Amino acid sequence: NGGGGSEMLRPRWIRINTLKTTLEDQLETTFSGYERSTTVGGVRNRGSKRLFIDCHVPNLIAISPNIDLSKSDAYKSGEIIFQDKASCFPAHLLDPLAEDGDIIDACAAPGNKTTHIAAILLSHNSEPDECSQVVHAFEKSKGRAETLEKMVNLAGSNTWTKLHPGQDFLKTDPESAAFKNVIALLLDPSCSGSGIIGRDDMPELHLPATKQPSSSISKPQKKGSKVPEPTSGTRKRKKGDHDDALDVMVDDDGEVTAVNSDDELKARIEALSKFQLELLLHAFKFPAARKITYSTCSIHAGENELVVQKALEHPFAKERGWRILMREEQIRGMQQWPVRGSSETCDGNEVLAEACIRANKDDEHCTMGFFLAGFIRDVK
Ligand code: SAM
Repeated sequence: NGGGGSEMLRPRWIRINTLKTTLEDQLETTFSGYERSTTVGGVRNRGSKRLFIDCHVPNLIAISPNIDLSKSDAYKSGEIIFQDKASCFPAHLLDPLAEDGDIIDACAAPGNKTTHIAAILLSHNSEPDECSQVVHAFEKSKGRAETLEKMVNLAGSNTWTKLHPGQDFLKTDPESAAFKNVIALLLDPSCSGSGIIGRDDMPELHLPATKQPSSSISKPQKKGSKVPEPTSGTRKRKKGDHDDALDVMVDDDGEVTAVNSDDELKARIEALSKFQLELLLHAFKFPAARKITYSTCSIHAGENELVVQKALEHPFAKERGWRILMREEQIRGMQQWPVRGSSETCDGNEVLAEACIRANKDDEHCTMGFFLAGFIRDVK
């Protein structure tokens, strides 16, 4: 049980893929007969058949737990995508439609956010030809790039996505002519994964696959590693763990490995935050870029607020004019989202804390643990 109480589980979040269908169509077909709830809490009861339409992210719904749609036509055809609410925040905050140029998804596999960006771009362009924006999707791991390609194809976003399989985003040349129109970047780097709750949050499992992708968590484990149970709602915890975050780490290649002690956890977070900062600083270099989102599914400040602070304090950010995207500048749904960074974590900087978006696992909003911040650059 991922929800806390014995009969109160986490609802299942489902993004309606507007590249292939509409919310209205889905309400009449896949979700016909569902009772509407006005709160997400209202769909949490085991055995109910209820549906909640989210108020922060468009085309997102939550349905009662225990309803398995993995064999439904809508899922198999890519019309609906299982994606946690918090995982939908980055593409929504990026608001790619507001920008006139190409987009980079720097760490793309398995493709939840790539396909979400494409869906946002296309939802207002009735004729696909009218959309001239390209989404560059980078994925360093070749195995995971295959999964990404499958998801992009299934979601119907292949026409607008330029895949860069096996390519390290950090090795791209921001000055290259290929990226001269890149106006916005979404950074969703490898992280500790400490906000992940159960199988619904494991991105690898979000594909209607006949076989597990080669890089999935079900592959033979590294010696001494511990992976979440793919079939259970919640991961088992090791004896002696005092924090969920100690359960599992997802490394730079998306590999899931165990962390056995506080020291190991500290060292891991330090290494991850170095990589995460490097990624952000690299993104700052794209000459036409005006907006960046940075997100993790980690609950640790070391990978979140502290990375953001370091990036903002870096001389390079100042030189290029990058600053935090303040709460009042964010797209409405994200502005209204109530869970923010704590000013304590942000050295008492209330504005920065308010600008940071957080999601807690297992609170009344029923999301996974997540962090998101936006950066903006005012170019004349
Ligand atoms: N954004 C994805 C989604 O929503 O479906 C999840 C991304 S996952 C947290 C991070 C991904 O970044 C992994 O697949 C990992 O292999 C990839 N990655 C890590 N370092 C990278 C780099 N330097 N360049 C490109 N991809 C990288």
